[in-house]
Amino acid sequence: MIDFHYQINPGRIIFGAGKLAQAKAEAEALGMRRVLVLSTPQQRPLAEDLAARLGDIAVGIYDQAVMHVPVETVADVMGVARKFEVDGCAAIGGGSTIGLAKAIALETDLPILAIPTTYAGSEMTPVWGLTRDGLKTTGRDTRVLPKTVIYDPELTLELPDFISGPSGMNAIAHCVEGLYSQSQNPVTSLMAEEGIRALAQSLPVVVRTPGDIEARAQALYGAWLAGTVLGTVGMAIHHKLCHTLGGSFNLPHAEVHTVVIPQATAFNQAHAPKAMAAIGRALGVKAEDAAPALFDLALSLGAPVALKDIGMKESDLEKAAGIATTNPYYNPRPVIRDDVLALLHQAYDGIRPS
Ligand code: NAD
Repeated sequence: MIDFHYQINPGRIIFGAGKLAQAKAEAEALGMRRVLVLSTPQQRPLAEDLAARLGDIAVGIYDQAVMHVPVETVADVMGVARKFEVDGCAAIGGGSTIGLAKAIALETDLPILAIPTTYAGSEMTPVWGLTRDGLKTTGRDTRVLPKTVIYDPELTLELPDFISGPSGMNAIAHCVEGLYSQSQNPVTSLMAEEGIRALAQSLPVVVRTPGDIEARAQALYGAWLAGTVLGTVGMAIHHKLCHTLGGSFNLPHAEVHTVVIPQATAFNQAHAPKAMAAIGRALGVKAEDAAPALFDLALSLGAPVALKDIGMKESDLEKAAGIATTNPYYNPRPVIRDDVLALLHQAYDGIRPS
């Protein structure tokens, strides 16, 4: 029987090629008059372009966003924000840059205009993360949810294939877990299935022909759906494992998701038949082939499929299984340490699930 609660996150979405041109109007609509533009060092030129478009309402650029939002970076950017008396942030970049804007919002309540350039999905979630002494803490707070998001596929044309593939698989992982989430509901399940379909169809084109704007738009549309799912329903064993492997073993975020999602799907195969049917429909395979199809998709993108290839040590697998099974998230299949260790061994060696 249908039985759910569905909390819709507020937010305004502007989607389409060339929509960056609306950034100033959107910032002003949020009441921003003194905007701090945020980016990574690598995306400084894009931040400068955005600042030029914002014109007189851009008061500065902070280009030191890095992965996992270290508290030292937050202290630094807060100093800049105070100096310029900013009244809002425009974050242009991936999850790292948007994460930095969220850290500012958490301390100050300042509104965020997010302009994502990867497929990670942070712009659609009220989840923040902060890293202190190498330990990442995360939490949920609606104050960090961007007020407006501009999705402009033109900004993703330069995203290299080796980032596009894993980043897209990261988005697919949000959809997969959304489908067997404890808090799943009919609307997010529709979004999740469509998200997998859009990403699985577009990503092979994106990595082959990075300049294909149609495929880029399709992938970004999938990423928006995936981010919405991630921001609306709870995640399960896959995300717990990825947080463990990224947080405690410093493995790269999107690549970890890429390696683990086929294995986590196989792990839950027999315990989430409706989800597997939806993943299968989205990938054009039978429900029982959902996990191998995700593995094949990652391979076809030239993305990693083995933890041993992205910096994991075999001797750390036991420790990782221990951390991931302490305070586990809800999961359709009971989370038992030895089963999770077996999953990690499969992921370590990059064995195709069957
Ligand atoms: P990222 O933001 O670190 O970006 C990866 C690299 O790609 C960076 O060097 C960046 O400068 C570059 N880049 C980004 N877009 C580009 C483009 N269009 N063209 C060329 N280069 C580009 O990586 P990510 O995977 O987007 O984000 C990962 C981080 O986000 C992690 O810290 C993760 O924990 C966090 N995250 C948080 C949430 C959440 O809900 N809070 C969700 C997803 C990810």
